[in-house]
Amino acid sequence: MIDTHCHLDRVPDIDLALDTTLAAMVTIGTDPERSRAAVALAQAVDRVYAAVGLHPSDAGRLDEPGVTAAIEALAREPGVVAIGESGFDTYWDGDALPLQRRSFAWQVELARSLDLPLVVHVRDADGADDASLCAVEMLREHAWTRGILHCCNGHEALIETGLELGWFVSFAGNLTYPRAAAIRAAALAVPEDRLLVETDAPFLAPVPHRGKRNLPAYVAFTAQALATLRGVDPATLEATLDANARRCYDLSS
Ligand SMILES: [Zn+2]
Repeated sequence: MIDTHCHLDRVPDIDLALDTTLAAMVTIGTDPERSRAAVALAQAVDRVYAAVGLHPSDAGRLDEPGVTAAIEALAREPGVVAIGESGFDTYWDGDALPLQRRSFAWQVELARSLDLPLVVHVRDADGADDASLCAVEMLREHAWTRGILHCCNGHEALIETGLELGWFVSFAGNLTYPRAAAIRAAALAVPEDRLLVETDAPFLAPVPHRGKRNLPAYVAFTAQALATLRGVDPATLEATLDANARRCYDLSS
């Protein structure tokens, strides 16, 4: 299996995280320093690939001297398979959308110029969908055809927009949480050839590890939950998910 989205630089025990039978892991940068760490790990360890970018929660760093140049240089390094994670988040910072839009616009055009997929994080404040609607608007405006809606939040218009552009939709461990009805509905609706699974480790561990530290190997629990939900054979779905991940990130097999 492939973990399409994790943060290996934040995992407390990297040896434990890497001690897995997974075929590949994509470790995601969230600022220049963490992007550099992701690239270093991808260049040091087989089966590890990197994404480099500026997380919406770090969009405030966009105008710091050297930040965009550092990430643009890292994006051209061997082992880098995507830009991001970029995106929109009003859960942690309700006032940051204007800045997050600028950060997204820069990253989506960087992804286009290098012909790489863009990893996009979208999280709304409770009871709102302003981040999702902003994402819809910006995805349509820039219309880049390679991307991943990471940690799918179940927002119908957003998923529809991503699918229309040719993007993949990635499900994380919260698919297994009892209250995730909208996410499970989305997991049924996304066409099989656009599905991905991820851990977002060390965050968001799936049941039965919920509340504990997450590891890339736990991606298997989310894949299993997805197979059960869709009523398909787990081994067949796993093969499809792996093929999708390789196609999405253009990984050598
Ligand atoms: Zn992430």
